[in-house]
Amino acid sequence: MIIAVDGPAGSGKSTVAKLLAKKLGFLYIDTGAMYRALTLKALDNNIEINDSKAIAALASRTKIDLIPTSEGPVKVLLDNKDVSLAVREPRVTKFVSNVAKIAAVRKHMVVLQRKMGFSKDCVLDGRDIGTVVFPKAEKKFFVDADFEERVTRRYKDLINLKIEGVSRAQVAQDLKNRDTIDSTRKVAPLKKAQDAIYLDTTKLTIEQVLDLMLNYSIR
Ligand code: C5P
Repeated sequence: MIIAVDGPAGSGKSTVAKLLAKKLGFLYIDTGAMYRALTLKALDNNIEINDSKAIAALASRTKIDLIPTSEGPVKVLLDNKDVSLAVREPRVTKFVSNVAKIAAVRKHMVVLQRKMGFSKDCVLDGRDIGTVVFPKAEKKFFVDADFEERVTRRYKDLINLKIEGVSRAQVAQDLKNRDTIDSTRKVAPLKKAQDAIYLDTTKLTIEQVLDLMLNYSIR
């Protein structure tokens, strides 16, 4: 069974997707981490982010693995190296949407995501899971929240991860830029699948969102 969880950054989708997977005993796949890992490699290798050909070529010679852990976030391996924390750095967040809008990069990632998804029951979170990666997913959710609430959540996440040197204003600006690029790109833009359940989490706790999702998932 495939459960697709899409939505914008800061909507709480990763948190609830992870908990949902744990409750159901499913594999959790954080597809955003894959785009982040490739962005990190491009930055570390001084590859021009807007050079689509160079970034696509880089994707084809890059190994990305997501390793589930019993506690905490999924471990992200980039060419066998643990980059779980590095992929959350602000410099990666700043450029990831530019990398993710490259058609050849998306094509590459979708193949990997389908391979992982077909291997086991899983919950995948991302932007295009219900629309493109698994349009026939048994359950689809689109998790959303008001902009200011999303900024607050992202800012708290960074503080919890002990990532320093970011202001709330910077988080707001980055979120706005990403929202725009992710929802207006030509290939697989962020949008609700027609048959997805829309969840506005602005005024809900994580437990309430999880309960709603569980109720829909076991129906
Ligand atoms: O989920 P997260 O915020 O970590 O995703 C980082 C970025 O990766 C998104 O802003 C988006 O540009 C890209 N992404 C995507 N498609 C997905 C998952 C993430 O384009 N399925």
